[in-house]
Parts: sequence; C-alpha cells; structure tokens
Amino acid sequence: MSAAPRSHGVPGLLDPDEPPAFEIVNAAGAGSAVLVCDHASNRIPLRLGTLGLAPEQLADHIGWDPGAAEVARRLSGHLDAPLVSSGYSRLVIDCNRPLANTGSIAEESAGVPVPGNLGLSAEARAVRVETLFQPYHEAIDRLLDTRSNRPSLLLSIHSFTPVLNGEQRPWPVGVSHWRDRRFAALLSKALVGHVDGIVGDNQPYPIEEAVDYTVPVHGEGRGLHAIMIEIRNDGLRTTAQFDAWAERLAAAYREIEADALKLGRSRADI
Ligand SMILES: [Zn+2]
Repeated sequence: MSAAPRSHGVPGLLDPDEPPAFEIVNAAGAGSAVLVCDHASNRIPLRLGTLGLAPEQLADHIGWDPGAAEVARRLSGHLDAPLVSSGYSRLVIDCNRPLANTGSIAEESAGVPVPGNLGLSAEARAVRVETLFQPYHEAIDRLLDTRSNRPSLLLSIHSFTPVLNGEQRPWPVGVSHWRDRRFAALLSKALVGHVDGIVGDNQPYPIEEAVDYTVPVHGEGRGLHAIMIEIRNDGLRTTAQFDAWAERLAAAYREIEADALKLGRSRADI
C-alpha cells in the first residue's frame, strides 16, 4: 500500500481494480441466521494512502475487528447462513455508526488521532458515504428483502480489545441487544454452556440508536430479532481459535434456534 494518497483526477474513492465495498458469502444460504460483519476489513482505499497511520495502528482494533471475519465466515458455513461483510476499514467510514455520529468518520479512535480524517470537506465525506457505507447497507437490505417470506435472525459479529482506556474487560464474549432483549437472552444463556467465563450482557457495549446502525436499522427496524456478538480478540489469534469460536457460536445457536423462531416479530416494548 502506498503511504502517499494517489490522485488520478478521477472522482470517486476506489480504483477499478480495488475490492468492492462489501462481500457476500453464501447469499442463498437456507438457514435461519443472517450474518453481518461491519468491521471485517482494515483495508484503506489506495487514494487515501494510510490515513496518516502506521501499519501497526491499522492492524490494531481501531482499524477493524481482528478475527471477526474469520469467525463469521466459518459460522456462515456451520449454519448455512448468508454473510455480508464490509470491505474497508471502519476508519474510512464506520458502517455501524449513524452518519450523524462523530464516530462515523472518526478524527480519533481510542486516543489515536487519524490525520487523514481531519478537516474533511462535505464532498469528501459524501464520497465515503456513497462509495462504502451505502452499498454495504443496501446489500444487507437487498439480502433481507429476498428472505422476506421466511424467518431470519440477524447476528452482527464483532471483536473487541481486552483492555480499553486502562480498563480490563473480563468477558470472553458478549451479547448485546437493543430494545427487545429476548433473542439475546436465549443465546447468552446457551453460550454459558460453551464458554469458560462470564458472557457479557450488553457488554462490552450496549446497543444505542445514536451510536449503532446495523442492529437498530436492519434488525428491529424490520421487526427482526437481532443481536451483536462481541468476541474478545485475545481469543482470536489462531486458526484453531477461529474454528473454536465458530463452533461454540453454532452450537449455542442450534440449541435455541427453535425457541428464537417462536418469538415472532421483535417488539420494542419488551
Ligand atoms: Zn466491531
């Protein structure tokens, strides 16, 4: 990757030979689960250089969710679930932040300034929205539209750093929900039998409408049960760990799938 931004005098953000804004795996998956991975990649469009960051900063959790895509891809196989993954770093535009949130195009992340995001023009912001954010979410929308005649349960797969702002985070995995907690409660309870440690309940992050986009919009916004699964990334270093987490999540999901599908539409008043 070039350290200096490239300019070809061409409007837009991506060169023709760069990967698209999203990837879909197993689009026709027949299982009840639909998987999304908002922070699957730490790729930066070539035209943006490195956003002024060092390679080790882009490789860290501020650039993406290390290991999340590896688990999501394996889980897609176990559950015959479609998976939509974002193709670019959250630092270019965060696909799980409402556009009005200051973290949408973050000027700093976990105390690290992001030089390439400082003082952006409205045009520069708009091109990131149109090139990366919108196509990713339109892909999720289209996928869910194709499944409108059968039940779907939405699982948004993330990973988190073991220490943030000096605070140790004890949960090996957390399950977060927005207003309707019933699906999260079922899966959390099942996960206890597969995990060594405490399953986070809306930890390390609760879902909030002002901060989160994917679960509120594609989940409860459609009446679908939806959760965010956060895996602590010190348990996502090796292929064996990716395999083990995907197997744990698949086993827990299978145990509660029938009960979750009996819940009917999600309801904000529960
Ligand atoms: Zn994430």
